[in-house]
Amino acid sequence: MYEEITVDKYLQDKDIREIAIVTTDRCEARCAHCLMESSPDRTERLSVKQITDYIDYFSAKEELQLVCFTGGESTLLGDDLLEAIAYCSEHDIPTRLVTNAT
Ligand code: SF4
Repeated sequence: MYEEITVDKYLQDKDIREIAIVTTDRCEARCAHCLMESSPDRTERLSVKQITDYIDYFSAKEELQLVCFTGGESTLLGDDLLEAIAYCSEHDIPTRLVTNAT
């Protein structure tokens, strides 16, 4: 018999100060080794509201020292990515961007 573990319970004893947000599974590339199986065919992505909700969730537990935006290709979010980065800046949270630079 396994104990049911909620996200809150799993995280309660963790000291999480850095998070990576998979903003989208979409990518212009289609690399065979891609862990996310990203490709131009994928359409899944987060909204700005979903991204900022994650940031708020983790910020409420610990002072975040880094938010890393990744994917897929996170720059495909365009202005939404800039808005998410600005949100972090407004809350004094450093950011990192993972991109294939295409
Ligand atoms: S996310 Fe990276 S590894 Fe995956 S398909 Fe795009 S460029 Fe390739």
